[in-house]
Amino acid sequence: MSKAKYHFNPKTLSYERIKVSTWQKVKKVLLHVLSSFSLGVCFFFIFAFFISSPYEKRLREENKRLSSQYKLLDKRLDEVQGVLEDLRQRDDNIYRVILGGQPISSSVRKGDYVSSRYEYLDDLSNADLVKTATKRVDEVRRMTYAQSRSYDEVIELSKNNKERLEHIPAIQPVFNKDLKYMASGYGRRVDPVYHTLKFHAGMDFAAPTGTKIFATGDGKVTLAEWKQGYGKCVVISHGYGYETLYAHMNDFNVRAGQEVRRGDVIGFVGSTGKSTGSHLHYEVHVNGSPVNPQNYYYADLSPEEYDKMLQLTENNAKVFD
Ligand SMILES: [Zn+2]
Repeated sequence: MSKAKYHFNPKTLSYERIKVSTWQKVKKVLLHVLSSFSLGVCFFFIFAFFISSPYEKRLREENKRLSSQYKLLDKRLDEVQGVLEDLRQRDDNIYRVILGGQPISSSVRKGDYVSSRYEYLDDLSNADLVKTATKRVDEVRRMTYAQSRSYDEVIELSKNNKERLEHIPAIQPVFNKDLKYMASGYGRRVDPVYHTLKFHAGMDFAAPTGTKIFATGDGKVTLAEWKQGYGKCVVISHGYGYETLYAHMNDFNVRAGQEVRRGDVIGFVGSTGKSTGSHLHYEVHVNGSPVNPQNYYYADLSPEEYDKMLQLTENNAKVFD
């Protein structure tokens, strides 16, 4: 029971009891409740936003570590995709072309992108990071699967293409296992005589005079004579649209009309015609147009040697013509 309150009335010179209505009592209680409630809310927000618990601190640290880990994963995926892209290029542009297969479309290799497939990740705090990585892992998985299926098909094609494979150029035209004769590659190069940029339609092997030159595939010699600019020159027709040309020879070892097998000696390295030093200029033509010969050494170079050759011919700008 609450104590009664009095106040002194100077007119009557007596104490009079103060009457407190029920509504006033209720108001007082409500005021108390309201002020404690707002104070509580204030404290809650202060604690929630400015002061974190050890558990929250740990979570925040973990979150930071996870997002940097995802960024690292993204970089690694770049590397994996680079390697897969390299495999795809060789598969589509070399193996399948040589064996008469069709390149595989990119939608089959990578699959079609369906954005709704990753919607379930949307409510994560680092949704973009996680979505990108998940999407790329899926892509890599599909690319790997398509690549392995393609190799199965390439093996089948090669079993049925023995004749074709014997004819298409597949080795280096000089013995060059350690690649020490690699001089310059196919593409735009500075002309050694005129010093202007010119298209170099073949590959140069800087070998000593007298080095043996081999036929790079089975075929028929269609030309073995002096050719303007090329000096002593041999052309072999391999069938299936393929032709190879060997220039600046010192001597011939075949005559026009002769059938040759891959590895037969057709002549010897020299410096005849427009040439600045002893070397072999070698060209591969497909359906009448020159192509980059670097894709036609697959019977003779391991993938590591192939990569080394690409570096050598890319960095070595010296052309003998
Ligand atoms: Zn050349």
